[in-house]
Amino acid sequence: MPEFQTDVAIVGAGPAGLMLAHLLHNAGIDSVVIDNRSHDEIAHTHRAGILEAGSVRMLESAGVESRVHTEGHRHDGIDIRVNGTSHSFHFPDLIGDSVWLYPQNEIFVDLAAARARTGRPTYFSVTDTHLGDIESERPWVNATTAEGEDLQINARYIVGADGSRGPCRAMIPADTKQRFFHEYPFAWFGILCEAPPSHEVLIYSRSERGFALISQRSSDIQRMYFQTSPDTDVDVWTDEQIWAELQARVDGPDGFVLKTGPIIDKTVLPFRSAVTEPMQHGSLFLAGDSAHTVPPTGAKGLNLAFADVSVLAPALISALQGTGAEALAGYSQTATKRVWKAQNFSYQMTRMLHTDPSQDAFETKRSLGELNSILDSEHGRRYLAECYTGWPNG
Ligand SMILES: Cc1cc2nc3c(=O)[nH]c(=O)nc-3n(C[C@H](O)[C@H](O)[C@H](O)COP(=O)(O)OP(=O)(O)OC[C@H]3O[C@@H](n4cnc5c(N)ncnc54)[C@H](O)[C@@H]3O)c2cc1C
Repeated sequence: MPEFQTDVAIVGAGPAGLMLAHLLHNAGIDSVVIDNRSHDEIAHTHRAGILEAGSVRMLESAGVESRVHTEGHRHDGIDIRVNGTSHSFHFPDLIGDSVWLYPQNEIFVDLAAARARTGRPTYFSVTDTHLGDIESERPWVNATTAEGEDLQINARYIVGADGSRGPCRAMIPADTKQRFFHEYPFAWFGILCEAPPSHEVLIYSRSERGFALISQRSSDIQRMYFQTSPDTDVDVWTDEQIWAELQARVDGPDGFVLKTGPIIDKTVLPFRSAVTEPMQHGSLFLAGDSAHTVPPTGAKGLNLAFADVSVLAPALISALQGTGAEALAGYSQTATKRVWKAQNFSYQMTRMLHTDPSQDAFETKRSLGELNSILDSEHGRRYLAECYTGWPNG
């Protein structure tokens, strides 16, 4: 039976878990990582696609050997389209930074390869993850390996990087935590299609028919979304209907036409905002989606996972190397400041760009006023550019 005495047991091999493992390893700190999905399943799950400049710098400075610069694409802006009229944001002019289009599954492949090169243990496809003694200095994680063996990890700290549905968050006693939650009255109908990009940057489109996002994945695979009801059944929509709906939401006097192709995936993505505070209890620390989720409108989910780790990694290193435990004690307070900025931006983008079926005419007009306050103002544009490209840490 595999049994480990390690510094940090990391539950979850997503962006938060693997980036943390890598930063700890760089500082000579030992960790064991487990995930209940297989390497292949994670590598083929399509999720986030936009990396803040700070997330790219983190991949570079950690020495992950990411392919972001060779296979990703720098995006110097976005277009916001309002009833068919485009408003271009050029981030380098507005804020002196950019974002990168590089899919989350490719980031996972890079991070998993970096982890494998360290030779440190990573167990995919585990089952029956349990953790305990989190109020002690000897917490533990148990699981069953893919081969059916009992896996026992004794650690000084546990990091719950196990996403929004993992078991770690529930280990924090109910009377010591608060869960903040907001549900939106709509969802996104998302497609992956085999087509060239329709435009050089992402298009966020507000129209009277509702929101659409013309996003990208690579030079020959594109990701697009349109606002829909959360109970939509994707199977009743034909490809022709999907393309007609997307096109109708970007139609305008400039004659912009989407580049279409075979649809290879259809999904409905519900919209929720959630934050658990504090993001720590005893020897357990939460990072990424296990502590918070944002609606995807602001492209913040993966970037927030990295931002948590940029605070947590040095704090764990200081505590484990005996140079101070203050940063670790203050982890939640430091991390949640950025979390709430991202919640605010994601909420604001969502409310400004979507039509809410339950809202009155006043709210529809007001949200357009809010959007125009940004579009028509140099200060407003700089504000949006700063939020989108990511705030400095601290
Ligand atoms: C369908 C979808 C689309 C998204 N689109 C976008 C987008 O366009 N833009 C954006 O910014 N964000 C998007 N997100 C959010 C983004 O993908 C997440 O914010 C990001 O993955 C967070 O990383 P993480 O490491 O915290 O969690 P995750 O990537 O969820 O990783 C957690 C890991 O923990 C593992 N785990 C769970 N339970 C257990 C257990 N019991 N034992 C062991 N391991 C366990 C999981 O298998 C998983 O691999 C999307 C999310 C989803 C679900």
